[in-house]
Amino acid sequence: SPALTSPSIKPINKNAIHRICSGQVILDLPSAVKELVENSLDAGATSIEVSLKEYGEESFQVVDNGCGISPNNFKVLALKHHTSKLSDFPDLQSLTTFGFRGEALSALCNLGELTVETRTQNEKVATHLSFDRFGLVTDERTTARQVGTTVTVKKLFSNLPVRCKEFHRNIRKEYGKLISLLNAYALTAKGVRLVCKNTTGKNKSTVVVKTQGSGSLKDNIITVFGTNTFTCLEPVSLFISETCQVDGFLSKSGNGSGRSLGDRQFFFVNGRPVDMPKVSKLVNELYRSANSKQYPVAIMNFVVPTRVCDVNVTPDKRKVFFTDEGSILNSLKEALLKIYSPNLASFSVQKAD
Ligand code: ADP
Ligand code: MG
Repeated sequence: SPALTSPSIKPINKNAIHRICSGQVILDLPSAVKELVENSLDAGATSIEVSLKEYGEESFQVVDNGCGISPNNFKVLALKHHTSKLSDFPDLQSLTTFGFRGEALSALCNLGELTVETRTQNEKVATHLSFDRFGLVTDERTTARQVGTTVTVKKLFSNLPVRCKEFHRNIRKEYGKLISLLNAYALTAKGVRLVCKNTTGKNKSTVVVKTQGSGSLKDNIITVFGTNTFTCLEPVSLFISETCQVDGFLSKSGNGSGRSLGDRQFFFVNGRPVDMPKVSKLVNELYRSANSKQYPVAIMNFVVPTRVCDVNVTPDKRKVFFTDEGSILNSLKEALLKIYSPNLASFSVQKAD
């Protein structure tokens, strides 16, 4: 038999690793803009403006009035795994910031052209910074700006040929997903004015998301979806377990207002927008038993101690693991049955006894 040669194992070169990993943190336009908006929220901003050029295809920019970035941090700002939010693993259990891995700016440098303008309250002038593919500062100039930070990304995915092609082909779809995601942040960010505008062609600019920065979820729902949608909703506050409470709004059983299945459904864990396909499925199924002609709107925030949930599951942090997910889903089902099928609920509780 022919001799099989065993290939030698070698480290991948650093630049290639960077390129491989960056494409996992930033999957598409929505995840790219999401990272910037989360950074602004983490910086304590009360005003966040997102500007897209050509639906984000040409560039996107996030302007905030947060704490700004100190000049001491410029050199390490966009280096991989450099963060002001986490320094050791145990901190992960008590984390309250959106970011913690120090990957977003580094990945965006790799995938596009990143510039930052920033100023803290200790500086009289702002600084404009340009970065190369590896997150190193290539240019530093003073400029005028209020306290806060502006991050601009041009030509996203220009160095990943396949992704780049997909990005341009699907731009309208990605844009739609982005607007829905920004709506999730507009709902959850209390006391933050969030605006998104898109500029196309000859400087025609459209405002696509706009909240006033109210302190209540109710007001945010009204500004995002309008009064008509709001009047079809019912506030819920569900006791799920000793460590889990669900607060939010659900469609009244006789009055659905989603236009299609899954439309206007937003799930949060301690205010962080996440995907919860199992919860969504449950809400849809139970709603159907009460109203088979319409779809339910759902805005549900799972309030849990940070030690029982893990958001460090996927690079984009959209997935969460709960300790005891099965029993949370069971209790949620009971609670939803009481709302949508009161007769069935008492029946199933009796059976269980
Ligand atoms: P992470 O958010 O996980 O820390 P990022 O790469 O998103 O990683 O950001 C790196 C660091 O840059 C943050 O930890 C923060 O200190 C700083 N930073 C990024 N964006 C802003 C912003 N808009 N305002 C203030 N600081 C920021
Ligand atoms: Mg971040």
